[in-house]
Amino acid sequence: MEFEAVIGLEVHAQLLTKTKIFCSCKNEFGAPPNTNVCPVCLGMPGSLPVLNKKAVEYAVKAALALNCKINTYSLFARKHYFYPDLPKAYQITQYELPFAENGWVEIEKSDGTRKRIRIRRIHMEEDAGKTIHGEGLDPNSYVDLNRAGTPLIEIVSEPDISTPEEARLYMQKLRDILVWIGVNDGNLEEGSLRCDANVSIRPKGSKELGTRTEIKNVNSFRFIQKALEYEIKRQIEVVKGGGKVVQETRLFDSGKGITKTMRTKEEAEDYRYFPEPDLPPLIIDKEWLDSIKETLPELPDQVKERFVSDFSLTPYDASILVRDRDLAEFFEKAASSYEGEAKKVANLIISDLLGALNEEKLTISSSPVKPEQVSKLLTLVDKGVISLRVAKEEVIPEMVKSGKEPEAIVKEKGLVQISDEEALKEVIRKVLSQNEKAVKQYKEGNEKQKQKAVKYLIGQVMKETRGKANPKLLNELIPKVLEEV
Ligand SMILES: [Zn+2]
Repeated sequence: MEFEAVIGLEVHAQLLTKTKIFCSCKNEFGAPPNTNVCPVCLGMPGSLPVLNKKAVEYAVKAALALNCKINTYSLFARKHYFYPDLPKAYQITQYELPFAENGWVEIEKSDGTRKRIRIRRIHMEEDAGKTIHGEGLDPNSYVDLNRAGTPLIEIVSEPDISTPEEARLYMQKLRDILVWIGVNDGNLEEGSLRCDANVSIRPKGSKELGTRTEIKNVNSFRFIQKALEYEIKRQIEVVKGGGKVVQETRLFDSGKGITKTMRTKEEAEDYRYFPEPDLPPLIIDKEWLDSIKETLPELPDQVKERFVSDFSLTPYDASILVRDRDLAEFFEKAASSYEGEAKKVANLIISDLLGALNEEKLTISSSPVKPEQVSKLLTLVDKGVISLRVAKEEVIPEMVKSGKEPEAIVKEKGLVQISDEEALKEVIRKVLSQNEKAVKQYKEGNEKQKQKAVKYLIGQVMKETRGKANPKLLNELIPKVLEEV
């Protein structure tokens, strides 16, 4: 019997507000433990929460970008559970009436097919603190409440995801969109985006859902795929062995690549949800909603389509450029100021500039190279002043190091392409004298071997001139000089 998996993801995303969701403590990562705290986020008796308006704006912005319907009226609720890093013993969240519902995102699989994953709901809530267990011989556990009260949105998908790859792509897509619109920093290692995955299996083609398990708190794209691959295999083995999958919460052990039972699953009743009495209903009226809509930028998928239609890029190149909003803007500026094909600009940025920036531990956002300079550099190539190879290998790295204009670098380093015939012939003669085998191959070989020999000799002349020889001229001159010797 063949099985298929049914997967739904719950993704928690921290919002990039300056302060926490219900108090004015700083919302930042990495401060000394328990320094960004106050009576509200410490859960002191008598303290009252006040909702951060910016957090609602960011949450709504995210929901709009994920094609959700925004509810004018929604409610906060208390979700009760005990944990050392949750001093109130309840979390303020949204339950029956979330602020956003019925959205979707589209993922593109490695085989090029697209799939729409529906989003059931998005709700706002506060993050808990962090429990840190002592390492090595340290038997203590520590509680850091800096994170308590960090604004979160929880994005709950429909069980539309069928493979671990789709789950990874979906999570990546969410990250790309949230970072693009500026509401999340996309830093998975710091926990800015975390994922719980619900997964069950059923006989292929069946409509019934099997018993699901939940994998908690995975904070890496690679791990979400790995954890699901393991868990699906495990469930299939249980069923094939005549057993039953138990509904439970499991943890992924990334070191061993396996999931382990954490606790048997609690039901919603166990949380004793009820409406939060300390907060009024959340009203998002049309006027406010419209003003938030105005702050929403053109989204990555729209920009990608535009790059393909306006700049004739391949969908693949366009998708690389829209992985980062600054990168997309950089490309667009460079391509708009360049008179040649935009494809050349995309190539230079993707295959050379990004690598050179990476070498210097820089990103496109901190790039000393300006978009117009990329266009100037390509114009130098088009005019035959320098070869493309010199542009890639010599000029770009120097531009990244010094931020100088391409013309200045070409002048200073003496990189001007050699287009003087006599000078080139001189170099060719020297190269021929050092490569008798290739000369012999040319003299005695058939057409194919001749071409091969010329190609090889072009490479040698390029080496000799450090890439400065004009390749077009070499193509003409090498056979000529070969006839002379
Ligand atoms: Zn506080």
